[in-house]
Amino acid sequence: MLQLPAGQVAAGHLPPVCPRHGEPALEMKKLRLISKPPPWAAFLIILGGIVYVIVVMALRKTVNAAAWPWCATCKANRSRNLGIGLGVLALGLLLFVVGIATIDGDAGPMLLLLGLVVLIVGIVFAARSGYQAVAGAFVSQDGNFVEVAKPDPRFQQALQYGQAPPQPQYPQYR
Ligand SMILES: [Zn+2]
Repeated sequence: MLQLPAGQVAAGHLPPVCPRHGEPALEMKKLRLISKPPPWAAFLIILGGIVYVIVVMALRKTVNAAAWPWCATCKANRSRNLGIGLGVLALGLLLFVVGIATIDGDAGPMLLLLGLVVLIVGIVFAARSGYQAVAGAFVSQDGNFVEVAKPDPRFQQALQYGQAPPQPQYPQYR
């Protein structure tokens, strides 16, 4: 996992290389990055969904990235997941409506149930098309870092050396 200081990300001081895919950035996007709910927060669901939501919202850390590198693969992943998500949602809705219309028949309840499952799958795909999900970056629990779970080595290299690896300044003897 790669940790970028939150201040650096907020200021947009990142090389024009996609952190996740290592490809040159097509554009530098303004992104609102948030932290994941802490693992222990899941236990709060026992107390009720609203308690969970309130605690998670209160603990949530946000970093507004001024210029996050966004590459061709990011763009393709986003439109693919959004396309699949919306397509599957439409299919789920159709099954749901047909299920309700034929609820008295044998297949009706089955179609209704299937429609619900397909709708959930569609929501999952649509959620994966969100900018942050595609970028694969999350704010750390303390809010001090932006963490990239699977950084591309080319991004790490660009980060280390600036935009391009510097040429050696000393003469080379071979
Ligand atoms: Zn990318």
